[in-house]
Amino acid sequence: MPNEGIGGWPARRALMSPNSTALLFEDESTTYAELSARISSLAAHLVAAGLSKGDRVAYLGPNHPAFVETLFATVSAGGIFVPLNFRLTAPEITQILGDCEPTVLVYAPECAAVVQMLEATPQQVVALSNPGPGEQLYGDWPAAAAAVEVAVAADDVALILYTSGTTGRPKGAMLTHANLTWNTVNLLIGVDVGADEVTLISAPLFHIAALAQTLLPTLIKGGCALITPGWDVDGVYELIAKHRVTWMFGVTTMYAGLAAVPQWESADLTSLRSLMCGGAAVPEELVRTYQRRGLTFCQGYGMTETAPGVTFLEARESAAKVGSAGVPVFFADVRLDRPGAGPGEVLVRGPNVTPGYWRDSGATEAAFTEDGWFRTGDLAAIDPDGHFRIVGRQKDMYISGGENVYPAEVENVMFGHPAVAEVAVVGMPDDKWGEAGRAFVVPAVPVTEAELREFLLGRLAKYKVPSRFEFVDRLPRTASGKVRKGDLRAVRPHLP
Ligand code: AMP
Repeated sequence: MPNEGIGGWPARRALMSPNSTALLFEDESTTYAELSARISSLAAHLVAAGLSKGDRVAYLGPNHPAFVETLFATVSAGGIFVPLNFRLTAPEITQILGDCEPTVLVYAPECAAVVQMLEATPQQVVALSNPGPGEQLYGDWPAAAAAVEVAVAADDVALILYTSGTTGRPKGAMLTHANLTWNTVNLLIGVDVGADEVTLISAPLFHIAALAQTLLPTLIKGGCALITPGWDVDGVYELIAKHRVTWMFGVTTMYAGLAAVPQWESADLTSLRSLMCGGAAVPEELVRTYQRRGLTFCQGYGMTETAPGVTFLEARESAAKVGSAGVPVFFADVRLDRPGAGPGEVLVRGPNVTPGYWRDSGATEAAFTEDGWFRTGDLAAIDPDGHFRIVGRQKDMYISGGENVYPAEVENVMFGHPAVAEVAVVGMPDDKWGEAGRAFVVPAVPVTEAELREFLLGRLAKYKVPSRFEFVDRLPRTASGKVRKGDLRAVRPHLP
């Protein structure tokens, strides 16, 4: 059986362009031949250490070449790669590890304190540096004598990506090798990625957008992925000029931040061919600001469960179709659940759609219509020319600085505080973050905002902690007792 997995992509590229730079990280460059050799030896090590087909390998840390190597080594050894959001707290990570039960956890030094606080750790823990007792040092394994040969089928699961979900419990969206392959095909139909590409990847690779919309297409084409551990608005201009960056991915907050610093007018941006933006439509003002510097956006709408591209707006259309999310990607069917009756829920069917959630048949069943369409929970309208416009969300979720926040999860944790009798969290428009959380609390006994904030910070990633707290006597509810979140969103904030 031919190997249908994505694990062999760097090795195949290495046959075509062994000496081209595959990865650049803090001035350390790795060619395709080197990357392929490193992946082979890690894959051989994982197999020798007992990794079996379908076993999970979790990775916790900011962007780093080891992320890329662990991803490809795991899946070429038949395993499933589980990238974790390094902004999560120890209780949140413990819950995820309890769900996916990885055999191996690889972690970066930035996450050492969190790893020490985990309630349970996998059998094997690998540290990128300074391993603790019983842990292994990353890279401390022999070069592979021969490539591992594990048969991988297109429908085997390659990744599990966790989202908090509207029930407040983490759900692991599974993506198969085929899902990732077809998304790459869809992306390459919309964007001219070339072998001379220098792609800046500052958005976190644990998120599907950076991983599938930039890293995979860059590597399949033999381009160079310039990886940074985070987004540093002051350093990015230097990086663009020094490495002649041609392409990058960001969310609107990142692009707005970039245009707001003094270097914006004078920086050399001539190497950039196009910019990818996702998570929200690029506002008109930002489109015009970038247009003045000769730059356009390719925009997409999508989600983790669809690997992620659902609709795509090509760069040449970004100025003419401001606010649009584009047209369906080439190999996916996209429709609304109520055609012809105004906005409806976006439904997707195609080779990029997840087979479901890890060990959660209830969530999987709820995510699909009876005839097999994936329900996105997003509301859209279709323009007469077939372009989609995302107009709202059916699901209770908001996006703050590119990170999804599920109010149900925040509310569940807040209920754990003895002073909270009732609580509802909503996302509100925010100039800096796109949206920011606001919690309405009915206190059982007197409590301060500072006490609630501190309680939450120990249990939830910072980006999930509401930026405002309002104490109220009661919450507006429907006759059936559901909180009317729409009414809460309309409440004028009390200015401090
Ligand atoms: P994630 O699974 O983290 O990629 O988040 C997916 C969600 O982000 C979608 O279900 C949408 O609610 C939102 N989203 C993604 N792209 C866009 C876009 N172009 N416009 C509006 N919302 C978007």
